[in-house]
Amino acid sequence: MKKRIVILGGGESGTGAAILAQAKGFDTFVSDFSVIPAKYKEMLNAHQIPWEEGKHTEELVLNADEIIKSPGIPDKAPVIVKSKEKNIPVISEIEFAGRYTTSKMICITGSNGKTTTTMLTYHILQQAGLDVGLAGNVGNSLALQVAESPHDYYVIELSSFQLDNMYTFKADIAILLNITPDHLDRYNYDMQNYINAKFRIIQNQTEQDTFIFWNDDPVIAREIAKRTPEATLYPFSAEFKPGVKGYTINNNVMIETSNGTFTMEQDILALTGKHNLYNSLAAGIAARILDIQDEKIRESLSDFAGVEHRLEKVLRIRGVDYINDSKATNVNSCWYALQSIETKIVLILGGTDKGNDYSEIEELVRKKARALIFLGVDNTKLHDFFDGKADQIEDAHSMEEAVSKAYKLAEKGDTVLLSPCCASFDLFKNYEDRGEQFKACVRDL
Ligand code: ADP
Repeated sequence: MKKRIVILGGGESGTGAAILAQAKGFDTFVSDFSVIPAKYKEMLNAHQIPWEEGKHTEELVLNADEIIKSPGIPDKAPVIVKSKEKNIPVISEIEFAGRYTTSKMICITGSNGKTTTTMLTYHILQQAGLDVGLAGNVGNSLALQVAESPHDYYVIELSSFQLDNMYTFKADIAILLNITPDHLDRYNYDMQNYINAKFRIIQNQTEQDTFIFWNDDPVIAREIAKRTPEATLYPFSAEFKPGVKGYTINNNVMIETSNGTFTMEQDILALTGKHNLYNSLAAGIAARILDIQDEKIRESLSDFAGVEHRLEKVLRIRGVDYINDSKATNVNSCWYALQSIETKIVLILGGTDKGNDYSEIEELVRKKARALIFLGVDNTKLHDFFDGKADQIEDAHSMEEAVSKAYKLAEKGDTVLLSPCCASFDLFKNYEDRGEQFKACVRDL
């Protein structure tokens, strides 16, 4: 009898996984608890893959030999709990796709900077003329590409949720940017569970493989000491220290690999701010390991256009800069935004709290914030923490209100920064919607 594969979640990753499963001859079924977007229904129909939406029919799901779960579905979802009770293996789309390809995998994870570093690495490989696909949280489903348009290389953004259900997959090059608390609601509020998920990025690696990581992250350092990875290590740091392979010295970016030392002026890096230096170092090391010409790496690191909603400059109005950092959905990324701005700041923050500890940004807020604008349905937690710690605090319940208050509070030379520390789902569809609304309101000022 054919082995049955049930895919939970009919989005980009689920539909891709279904198409690959079908192509490999499995009895394939897609089940989604909410509505499957029309685009994916059409793709499933075109491949004659049966699907259901608005429910998980147990007789059709729990008879699976293996389940491929969308990263958005939490482990505590009843259908997953029941699958586990029945000992049905639950894997991720990336794990599944990994079984059917021998292409080189460059995998990127971290609490912050994943998308930026993924897009930057992809840009370098593409500019160098390699046959490369973009997958994971950004780009198209890896499984779909493996099934229908395979590439020699894949640059893959991996969230902890994707890593959670990966077991035999191996990254040829793994990049771990940083680990700070995030998504703890999905990890029983236990930071170690989240750390363990992130470290799956190096599972199955051998000494032929590469592990690139931020040298100065205390969590990563502690875990590496505990785990002694097999892979060849490429730590990076803002400044030179013995052992680091990527760093800066006298405003020059330096990357040391077995084929010599790469150098480039720091001033011509396209992405600014310290966090982006880390991202550029990580992408640069990966490119060097892949033997891409130095000239190509330099060119790509200096002409990269950046990614929308990440410290994106919107407009300057009456001497005030407006910056959209809507993707800052945790406290650490807001810290980097505050740190990278030299002027006084009117900070718009708030939304759906994920167990945030705001003490991480307290010092920068005291030093740099002219005003705080809390943008959320429920701003109580923000008030409890910040009241008395900033000169001016205002509440807003729509983007329009937040931007118009920011406009009034900002003085010439200031920056108005949307860097919310929180998820967006209380007032917006998602962080993109929040960023778009911010930009539209700013343009209407
Ligand atoms: P992710 O995909 O991990 O969420 P992004 O590249 O989308 O990361 O960036 C998210 C936010 O994190 C942005 O607001 C950006 O300012 C900040 N950020 C980017 N790179 C880093 C980094 N290396 N360390 C800390 N914060 C970062």
